[in-house]
Amino acid sequence: MSLQRYEEPLLFGQHGAAERRFLELISALPKVSVQGYDKYRNVIYWNKSSEDIYGYSETEALGKKLEDLIIPNFMRDDVIKFHQRWIEFNEPIPSDELVLKKKGGQPIHVFSSHVMLKQGTDSPEMYCVDIDLSEQHEIRQELERMACTDLLTNLPNRRALEQCLTSVIDDARSSNTGFGLFFIDLDMFKEVNDTLGHSWGDELLKSVAKRLSGCIDNANGVLARFGGDEFVYLANNVSCEIRCEEIAKTLSACFRESFALSTENVHITSSIGISLYPRDGDVIDDILKHADAAMYQAKAEGRNRYHFFTDALSQRLREQRNVAANLRESLRNDEFELVYQPQVDCKTGGFTSCEALLRWCPVDKTKAVPPDVFIPIAERGELIGDIGTWVLRKACQQAKEWKQKGIEIRIDINVSGKELEKSSYFKCLTACRDEYNLQPKDIGLELTENVLIKSDSTILEDLRVQRDLGVEISIDDFGTGYSSLSYLKHFPVTHLKIDRSFLEGAPENDYDSALMEAIVNVGHKLNLKIVVEGVETESQSDYCKSLNVEYVQGYLYSRPVSADTIESLYSGQSW
Ligand code: C2E
Ligand code: CA
Ligand code: CA
Repeated sequence: MSLQRYEEPLLFGQHGAAERRFLELISALPKVSVQGYDKYRNVIYWNKSSEDIYGYSETEALGKKLEDLIIPNFMRDDVIKFHQRWIEFNEPIPSDELVLKKKGGQPIHVFSSHVMLKQGTDSPEMYCVDIDLSEQHEIRQELERMACTDLLTNLPNRRALEQCLTSVIDDARSSNTGFGLFFIDLDMFKEVNDTLGHSWGDELLKSVAKRLSGCIDNANGVLARFGGDEFVYLANNVSCEIRCEEIAKTLSACFRESFALSTENVHITSSIGISLYPRDGDVIDDILKHADAAMYQAKAEGRNRYHFFTDALSQRLREQRNVAANLRESLRNDEFELVYQPQVDCKTGGFTSCEALLRWCPVDKTKAVPPDVFIPIAERGELIGDIGTWVLRKACQQAKEWKQKGIEIRIDINVSGKELEKSSYFKCLTACRDEYNLQPKDIGLELTENVLIKSDSTILEDLRVQRDLGVEISIDDFGTGYSSLSYLKHFPVTHLKIDRSFLEGAPENDYDSALMEAIVNVGHKLNLKIVVEGVETESQSDYCKSLNVEYVQGYLYSRPVSADTIESLYSGQSW
């Protein structure tokens, strides 16, 4: 490349030796394009990297206009304007990351800085120094792709889905069209995952993703992995239920054949919730939430089916929001109470422990609903944490009061899975016990088997620590969840509470009594103490005693009652 070709001296006037070396350096700079332009933006200098980066040889570039070479059409007018303003008003063009154009028209990412030499003379020269950012751009794109892709299934992830929904909503709004959103949740995946092990669980998810991708219209929709065993299919340009039903049937059909994994064939089904834009919501949050609510309804109706978001569901969500708002208010105003139900020792007929059950007592009594209604609502929001803390503190306070009166009654509190998931739960439990000068044996914990099954190893380890300290831990409602007896030995528990639904049938119903007996036997073999819940009649009580269970609890002995009543029952107890 020769610099002597130009009549006007370049860059620094007459070239001294140092300047010439500097020019040589610039002309050979790798990955840094240096271009010079005269006041008409004609190229007067074009270094070697400019050839590499933009694809024009020096000969091709010299004399051509900046805006005809490397400026994309949409930037043309601005570039001309900015250049002129610099020359006329001395307003420099700021450095910036730009996407310019190569000879073939392909975009190229550069960081562009500019200097004006001979400013104020008749022949100002603009020099552009462009650093090629292609590699960085590719890396950035790859990172972006990874951030938007679920690494297990290679499907777009939740983040990507939400980005996609933003633009799909924009399009649908401007073109007055609709779309359908299908929330697909695998039924009993957790159980399969636990039985087969996590790597096969992962294999299953991959196979499901593949099968679903194969059955959908990829050109007109997006299938994403929403998280865990949840997938979302967004079907563009669908605005009627009939079409959605066809799609839902196709999606369900993917699960008809079993999935071949390792040595076994796994059969799994799915529950699908459907919401339609704009009918069921016009913002991302609502559309997703409503499809999710519809999916829960499909599960509640027996799984392996689809369900639309309906007015009834919408009404229920509204009611739940109301309950949640009222609960929040009641937490502020301390409008809760604990009642206690004795757990009667079958051998002595007396009791040394009771279960604490929460009651909601707002001033406006019409707002109150029972715990089996408001606890699940609280669990869906963040409220359960505060409610659980309230229960824990209240129970500790009560236990201390009883101790001071010489009454030795352990209080078992119900703990929701959502509470355990908080890393602070066990710290809070210990701190609260300490604050009220209690021993680990004074406060027991009741957890449902579903909570235990879902608990990760950290939670199980924390529970084990508590159990070893002397905390009594019960599996609550045993028999209503997955009820695998083989699980029992893995859980750090001390008591097993058999759900009252078993007792309703036994002893008359052979099936129920066979189950009861089996559970009691296995429980005893594992050194667990058995509590039977919901004992309402003498014959049920006799039956429990005949099974040699340790404790019974139910209306026959006492309904859940106030602390005062417990005190009087305690002093005159015998059943
Ligand atoms: P749960 O833990 O299974 O509690 C036992 C439920 O059975 C209580 O209902 C109790 O009143 C009722 N019960 C006791 N004996 C009998 C009987 O002989 N017959 C019948 N039919 N029922 C009996 P409750 O108090 O309405 O509580 C319902 C559920 O709400 C509880 O079921 C528990 O899951 C939840 N819950 C209650 N308090 C709390 C709490 O403080 N925290 C959490 N996380 N959940 C709570
Ligand atoms: Ca319980
Ligand atoms: Ca229970």
